[in-house]
Amino acid sequence: MAENIHPIFDRILDRNQKEGFLNQRSKVLWFTGLSGSGKSTIAEFLEKKLFSEGYFIQLLDGDNIRTGICNNLTFSLEDRQENIRRISEVSKLFKEAGVICLNSFVSPTIDIRQMAKEIIGNEDFIEIFVNTPLEICEQRDVKGLYKKARAGEIKGFTGIDSPYEAPVNPDIEIKTEGQTVEESAIEVFNHILPLIKMD
Ligand code: ADP
Repeated sequence: MAENIHPIFDRILDRNQKEGFLNQRSKVLWFTGLSGSGKSTIAEFLEKKLFSEGYFIQLLDGDNIRTGICNNLTFSLEDRQENIRRISEVSKLFKEAGVICLNSFVSPTIDIRQMAKEIIGNEDFIEIFVNTPLEICEQRDVKGLYKKARAGEIKGFTGIDSPYEAPVNPDIEIKTEGQTVEESAIEVFNHILPLIKMD
């Protein structure tokens, strides 16, 4: 850390007070999975559900990150790592402010997610593996990206010509195949409720 930078975290209101104000425990819910697996759809459903139950949350995804704080990054392995590093630091700030973060990012490798976990903190990083087989994601092809990747128009696309390393021991695993969006989202909701509920 640079010599002249002095963190002031100990002089400002602490996280407990902010969590108390918001009547919730803050966590970072980290959705990982292939493109089209259902991360954003589940996170968006959950955002509405949690909000209606009185929780205060912030959703982070490619749309608000890649167009803003990470708009200078590509999809090379190095830049993907930097992307996740910045997202993790941003999530940590939200967490310290008592806010629950819903993050949906492919975050394809074990190393990348380990880095996120280290930045955010073991206790607060909740890994949610949205486990949808590649064939199903490719059939859904929500954004037409698989078609482009198969045609060679996109290089280094996760699942096609760039690896996806599944989590070994995720906190939550959701198998969306044959499930409705609501069923998948409620499954996550039931798992996380005890973690975010103020005692
Ligand atoms: P990702 O954010 O992982 O790239 P998206 O959420 O953008 O994926 O797309 C997932 C697609 O799969 C959506 O069109 C969604 O309606 C569909 N889908 C079908 N079943 C489910 C489910 N059980 N959970 C989540 N999405 C589902």
